[in-house]
Amino acid sequence: MRIEQIELRIVAIPMVRTFTISSSSIDVAHHLIVAVRGEGLSGYGESASTNGPFYCGETVETCWHVLRDFLAPSVIGADLESVEQLSERWGKIKGNRFAVAGMEMACWDLLARSQGKPLSELLGGTRTEILSGVSLGIQPDTGALMELIGRFIGEGYRRIKLKIAPGKDVEVLRQVRSRWPDVALTADANSAYCLDDAETLKQLDQFNLAMIEQPLAHDDLIEHAKLQEQLQTPICLDESILSVRHARHALELGACRIINIKVSRLGGLGPARKVHDFCLKRKLPVWCGGMNEFGVGRAANIAIASLPGFTLPGDVCGFDKDYGDDIVSPYICARDGAIEVPCRPGLGYEIDQAKLDKYTVRKELLEEK
Ligand code: MG
Repeated sequence: MRIEQIELRIVAIPMVRTFTISSSSIDVAHHLIVAVRGEGLSGYGESASTNGPFYCGETVETCWHVLRDFLAPSVIGADLESVEQLSERWGKIKGNRFAVAGMEMACWDLLARSQGKPLSELLGGTRTEILSGVSLGIQPDTGALMELIGRFIGEGYRRIKLKIAPGKDVEVLRQVRSRWPDVALTADANSAYCLDDAETLKQLDQFNLAMIEQPLAHDDLIEHAKLQEQLQTPICLDESILSVRHARHALELGACRIINIKVSRLGGLGPARKVHDFCLKRKLPVWCGGMNEFGVGRAANIAIASLPGFTLPGDVCGFDKDYGDDIVSPYICARDGAIEVPCRPGLGYEIDQAKLDKYTVRKELLEEK
């Protein structure tokens, strides 16, 4: 199939509540939606970068620049036979993985639709439903947090992840654990600590957390290994794992016991599958992380999380945890802590064009000259 046209949009949807992590807060998510078109079909991808360079170095604007000026020109006019083959065209781009993920995901969706197959099937998925947890931002007060946790446990979610930061850690977790002694609980620091904080982090061992996610710097596997030696709780790495090579280094150094596989951070579904395959072979548990994606990115997360190695509940949850509305139909919903893997072609969810237009704040069409 010949790729004839690419449309880029920045789409802005207000969040139902401010999402605060150790480094930043978001009230309105701005993500890039990429449409790749050929032979009358469209495939969709999402670059779910945060608004500012606080999760990684990318922003909405850097994604726009790289997609518009480098990724789109590299594929317009190209033949899409396999995404791996097509990805060689952008293989020289360094970093900018959120931008690449948007394009790569759209190509997978287009390919799957052209073959009339669900994306999960094309990727090698084996699950009919994925296990779903929620990731809760730092709340203004513990009362608000307890209320939210109670609500999502009531909805049947399989695990609760709390964002933590220095000063919003031990006492918060103590209260949560004493109220819910048995719930599967994890904590995500988004790199807010340093190795000198080991004594504080060791106190978290008493709360029987399923893992502590990315406690230390995004680019430091060695200190994570030193910390893991001192902790009973498994460390899970997120920001530090950008490729299979990083996963291998982390495992060899003993820097973690679990890996969060995130499509955006790894530069697309193909790279995410490679990390999954590596971890499955090495018996390292994985789960699917998220970036509060809109329906397009969320559907791609469901597809990748249908692979057999995703044995732990992930961050992929119903859209309503984050938003009051979405750009796909039907809405993506969780039931009893699980989300059905769709059997429909491609991502398995249709773009609601009226909603897409409603929330678009910028768009540009790129075609062959
Ligand atoms: Mg994380």
